[in-house]
Amino acid sequence: MPELPEVQTVVSDLNEKIIGDTITAFWSEWPKAIKCKTLAVFTKEIVGRKILGVRRIGKNIFIDLSGNKTLYLHLKMTGHLLIKTTSQELSSSQGKAGQELSSKGGKDYFADKVNQYIRHKWTLKTKNHPPRLAETRLDSTRCLIKSKRATARRCEAGKLKTIEFSDVRKFAKIVLDDTDKIAQLPEIKSLGVDAISAEFILTKFNKILDRKAKSPIGIILMDQHLIAGIGNIYRSEILFEAGILPTRKAGTVSITERKKLFQMIEKIMQKAIKLRGTSDSDYRDTAGAPGGFQKIMKMYRHDGKKCPKCGTIIMRDTIGQRAVFFCPSCQK
Ligand SMILES: [Zn+2]
Repeated sequence: MPELPEVQTVVSDLNEKIIGDTITAFWSEWPKAIKCKTLAVFTKEIVGRKILGVRRIGKNIFIDLSGNKTLYLHLKMTGHLLIKTTSQELSSSQGKAGQELSSKGGKDYFADKVNQYIRHKWTLKTKNHPPRLAETRLDSTRCLIKSKRATARRCEAGKLKTIEFSDVRKFAKIVLDDTDKIAQLPEIKSLGVDAISAEFILTKFNKILDRKAKSPIGIILMDQHLIAGIGNIYRSEILFEAGILPTRKAGTVSITERKKLFQMIEKIMQKAIKLRGTSDSDYRDTAGAPGGFQKIMKMYRHDGKKCPKCGTIIMRDTIGQRAVFFCPSCQK
């Protein structure tokens, strides 16, 4: 399942690629993913709205739209969003849509099998870039800038942009609600503090551990109602770096260990964001490309291999119904 670093990568990509665009159409082959609305009502309510901004809490994505509406997406197990831009001429011939942005590093990632399970698609009209004030003041080069702007606008006008939601398992969730009501949705209201937010500070972390003193630390880290964003991939990596066994009860974790654990949450999350997440299975970024964290992972799915620190064989256990990986020597 995509965790905080993967979702943050998607949110950053969306903010870079679709802000200011207007939704002109929506298509779905799996309307069951749309909660509390029929496909017809959802489509009617979303078409014509401008994309204002994209944000995240834990693993939940919020796309704020004009007219006080927010599109809330949860990628669940296998969902990922692909942003495709192409010329309208190309889009008319099936299969070629998305050609332009798909070639990242010379490889057509959109053609990968993992990106072929398109269940929903938003068509966007690209924004018109207004003339920037700074540019209009540059009198001597105004003509040049004007002509550049005109070219840029012509290019934009000729583009067709889509957000395509690939989801092989079909567990992903789509919600459209009033922006000022999203925070009151039960699943959002019950979320714990986001693992990389400014509100997540050591004293808050200590309070969580004190409140859950009898719970295994491996469960606390993954409990979205306590700390939002960490799943079973990153909990193994975080606990290894902190030197703490996943089965340790929170109440037995010392002040020094808690501090280290808190620091490792930040360190691992930021490192994974920098590497654009982990693609051990279905997760891909909006260009269809895999993340890079799986290349440097030390514990997750490394059972039977030697610990990179001490050489002891890495073990696998199940905590909170999910697999956890640890070194029985390095972690106490
Ligand atoms: Zn070890």
